[in-house]
Amino acid sequence: MKRPALSIVVPCYNEEACLDQLHARVSAAARAAVGEDHEIVLVNDGSKDASWAAMQRLAAADPHLVAINLSRNHGHQLALTAGLDLCAGDQILIIDADLQDPPELLAEMRATMAAEDADVVYAVRRKRDGETLFKKATAAVFYRMLSRVTDTPIPLDAGDFRLMSRRALDALLSLPEQARFIRGMVAWIGFRQVPFVYDRAERHAGETKYPLAKMIRFALDAVTSFSTKPLTFASHVGMWLSVASLLLLLYIGFGFVTGRAVAGWTSTMLAVVLIGAVQMFVLGLIGEYLGRLFVEAKRRPLYLVADVAGPVQGRATLGY
Ligand code: UDP
Ligand code: MG
Repeated sequence: MKRPALSIVVPCYNEEACLDQLHARVSAAARAAVGEDHEIVLVNDGSKDASWAAMQRLAAADPHLVAINLSRNHGHQLALTAGLDLCAGDQILIIDADLQDPPELLAEMRATMAAEDADVVYAVRRKRDGETLFKKATAAVFYRMLSRVTDTPIPLDAGDFRLMSRRALDALLSLPEQARFIRGMVAWIGFRQVPFVYDRAERHAGETKYPLAKMIRFALDAVTSFSTKPLTFASHVGMWLSVASLLLLLYIGFGFVTGRAVAGWTSTMLAVVLIGAVQMFVLGLIGEYLGRLFVEAKRRPLYLVADVAGPVQGRATLGY
């Protein structure tokens, strides 16, 4: 099997309006970098619009393009995994479909990779145009909190936009977990990784495919798959609460012995409500981990492919 020099992998969910422009710009960037020796892998993550039809049309016209159609919406990180499994290139560029990450930066990223002899060049966002204040604020808080709780240092403000070597990608694909936080997993594999600073553009068309619920899930996956500190935190809270209730018990006993009436409905309620709330929180936290253990234990395939359009140059089978 002959590997193309470069694969460009793009997860797409309801990106119909971006695909033509995406294909044109990505193709041009790939041609400028490696000539004909490239492939573009588009993954349709169960879009509800006409993305798949658009991909089939593009695949029919461009022999460099492979499109795969997942059986349903599996989520950004799994769609990306499907594309990464399938791609065959020596170097792999991961990019979003909405052109927020300019494909033209490919040349500089390849230059950085060569100059630094790196296995991963990850793009760090200096500016984020056209995103809501809420998105920017939650992203800023998320990356900072994450870096405090994880044992693996995960770069701040870096998305999945990155260039990887084949050996780094193979290392990444050897991690089997279901709850995939790919930017963290890439940090975990090690090798030489260097940042590349860029300004994030506005979406070419459409709206963000990350509503709040998906953002929360993404953040929980990130934290729970890269840190057990929340569990430690939970047990610490439990310990201190036990100490406090022991002291309270002593105090109550003292009042009982000395015959002073216990006149505290307010304080009782306060203690019950507070401890109840903390217990629920801690239980919920444990539940988050347990739920993920349950999902991992089932060992289901990460995604299912319904159709493929275009030549599959790489692995004959999809990697699950
Ligand atoms: N995406 C996906 N499946 C999903 C949600 C998003 O494949 O369930 C893709 C989407 O098409 C885009 C990338 O993931 O290429 C990032 O999504 P988006 O641009 O909406 O996120 P944002 O930039 O707003 O964080
Ligand atoms: Mg986007």
